[in-house]
Amino acid sequence: MEYAEARSKFFVSLAKEQGSWLARCEVCRRRAATDVHHIRGREGDLLVNPAFFLGVCRRCHDRIEHAPQWAASQGYTMTRNRIPEEEPCPEVGRTSSG
Ligand SMILES: [Zn+2]
Repeated sequence: MEYAEARSKFFVSLAKEQGSWLARCEVCRRRAATDVHHIRGREGDLLVNPAFFLGVCRRCHDRIEHAPQWAASQGYTMTRNRIPEEEPCPEVGRTSSG
């Protein structure tokens, strides 16, 4: 799906969810949602996956971008599980005896 399509469908369903004709910002709940914030980033399928969209106004979007710690504490940003660059091999305690 194209991002533009995913985005507009998301705003329509968000408005419906909010019982309004206009999607409101999910952060301040006052201004119109004009932006999509990607809770888990925009890599690959995440770009078009509405499960990880947050409808926000421009001001709240800026706030999220500029205050990542606050955003994470509010659940507006979720970092993916970091893959350790070099995980030491778990020690093999037993040798196969069969
Ligand atoms: Zn807002």
